[in-house]
Amino acid sequence: MSGTVLALSGGVGGAKLALGLSRVLAPGTLTVVANTGDDFRHLGLAVSPDVDTLVYTLAGLADPQRGWGRRDESWHFMDALESLGGETWFRIGDADLAMHVERTHRLAAGHTLGQVTHAVVSRLGIAARIVPMSDDAVATRLRTDDGWLDFQDYFVRRRCAPAVRAVAYAGADIARPAEALREGLAGASLRAVIVCPSNPLLSVEPMLALPGVRDALAACPAPVVAVSPVIAGQAVKGPTVKLMRDLGLPASAAGVARRYAGLIDALLVDAADAEAVAEVGIEPVIARILMDDLEQREALARTVLATAAQLATLPVAERLATRTAAGRHGARP
Ligand code: GDP
Repeated sequence: MSGTVLALSGGVGGAKLALGLSRVLAPGTLTVVANTGDDFRHLGLAVSPDVDTLVYTLAGLADPQRGWGRRDESWHFMDALESLGGETWFRIGDADLAMHVERTHRLAAGHTLGQVTHAVVSRLGIAARIVPMSDDAVATRLRTDDGWLDFQDYFVRRRCAPAVRAVAYAGADIARPAEALREGLAGASLRAVIVCPSNPLLSVEPMLALPGVRDALAACPAPVVAVSPVIAGQAVKGPTVKLMRDLGLPASAAGVARRYAGLIDALLVDAADAEAVAEVGIEPVIARILMDDLEQREALARTVLATAAQLATLPVAERLATRTAAGRHGARP
């Protein structure tokens, strides 16, 4: 089956599947759109955590244990910064620092975030395209019992401890979506859209908040297949379940299905979650969705693509009608 594949991804969970996809698809056919709602300025540097997790993972440079940053990292910069009394709550390894310095430098010279990312991706020999969701600033912010917090303040400095009452994507309403989203979702050569197993609220919905993107995904003629980041009521890593619970949402794969109802055609889930997902009106596809090693990433990528190929055999009008009906039935709480 030919055509292009568009994957929507956050950091750690998304990058695992993106790596699998990049290894099973023909070079040049995969575009991964990265969340930039986590981006921030730190120590004067432009930091794009999800873009970097994708770049490091697809380049084979990621640290497998830590889940962020580069492997074989050294920490002289952090140690020296601490000795000077600098801020050390956000850890930046020595090699990782080069990425932030280079990005900041190129942005200051007038390049867009998309151009900077493209240059780095080419330079590191990555076969997929990695595209920041927008070149304009979008900042995920959380209203907590301690007041409004910037994303990294909540996520890293406070380790997701404060209870979250609302999530906002500042700037998303006026940010211009990347062309890969704007035109890519309607593209004639598009074979599938994959919503990676990322945090729905912190990684995927910032993209959906960009002007026109939610509607473009709902109307996308290609099959849209998502993978649940929640497995039998548990997040593999990170605050997905806690956040959903804090917000009064069902903290389960069915809760994820509700967030995506009207936008996707199928959700890959653990067997334990299939029935509850079907009740939302979304087709559950049972698969091993935990990706412990490279083999499992590739296997899940193949299953996702096979699911999309199966869906593609249905007439587009029928698929869109089912998607829309699920949107009405599963309506986001
Ligand atoms: P972040 O931006 O670094 O937090 O990364 P993402 O939003 O892309 O990923 C976070 C989500 O990935 C969490 O909800 C995890 O449960 C999920 N996740 C991590 N590893 C896996 C895995 O192997 N399989 C699945 N299905 N989800 C995973």
